[in-house]
Amino acid sequence: MRATLSAPTIVRTIAELHARLDEYRRNTPNGKVGLVPTMGYLHEGHASLLRRSASENGFTVLSVFVNPLQFGPTEDLDRYPRDEERDRAVAAEAGVDLIFMPSVAEMYPKRPLTSISLSGVTEPLCGASRPGHFDGVAIVVTKLFNLVRPDRAYFGLKDAQQLAVITQMTEDLNTPVEVVPCPIVREPSGLALSSRNVYLSPEEKEQALVLSRSLKQVPEWVKTGISAKELSERLRQLISKEPLADIEYAEVLEYPSLTIPQEENGVLSASSRLLVALAVRFGKTRLIDNILLPQA
Ligand code: AMP
Repeated sequence: MRATLSAPTIVRTIAELHARLDEYRRNTPNGKVGLVPTMGYLHEGHASLLRRSASENGFTVLSVFVNPLQFGPTEDLDRYPRDEERDRAVAAEAGVDLIFMPSVAEMYPKRPLTSISLSGVTEPLCGASRPGHFDGVAIVVTKLFNLVRPDRAYFGLKDAQQLAVITQMTEDLNTPVEVVPCPIVREPSGLALSSRNVYLSPEEKEQALVLSRSLKQVPEWVKTGISAKELSERLRQLISKEPLADIEYAEVLEYPSLTIPQEENGVLSASSRLLVALAVRFGKTRLIDNILLPQA
């Protein structure tokens, strides 16, 4: 059962966060706490995680923090979209109890000297094109886990590599949290929801539909037999038909290890768990999308 139905309070300091959590835990012995870490500018994808947490826990904490440590020097940290009022409204509607919206100084009063680096899962895909990105994700998620001490934490499969990294990290460190994967939420057009979609011009947005359209064909290709190389080439061919598309990667890997997939007689095994992942730029906007096989 939820603790409250009223609009969530926003707290900006660790002291206030602890006070609220202590109060909940004192008043609700055995009450479960769910955490949904985000960078804000919430959309229906985030809302699906929040609703799931609210339905499975007595108290849901939404964190909104644009974490500078996970952005590279040439990335969009300064122009990342923000809208506190809208975030509060989405959170209220989804049943959030508390919003933790710390400043950068609150989270990092000093530059951390500790780094959390995973090998393997962080190396391909976004790890190759965004050096240091997953170190930034790992440290901020670890800090949030230590601050909130959630029973469950909710992450979207939209960021499938991030989910693999966090799951691996919590297993490696015996972090007492259940990491809950949540499906990708899409627009009716197929476009995966993302805070960064607001950057797209109407023309870019139209062309970006090629990502979900091409991923949709993948299950059939794998069923009829295809090699990893051929799969990647077919995706590249389809995507590069859109003149504004600039492909960063189009790859298939085993999931969640993110290793090179096994092939039998030159074709991918239809029973392997595979991640087919795309990162494509449209103008200045970098979009990611993926499909996990076999599908449920
Ligand atoms: P972000 O604010 O982009 O850091 O995302 C916060 C969380 O929401 C991450 O766990 C994302 O994977 C998840 N998320 C973002 N977009 C979607 C989506 N379209 N469907 C499901 N989850 C999403």
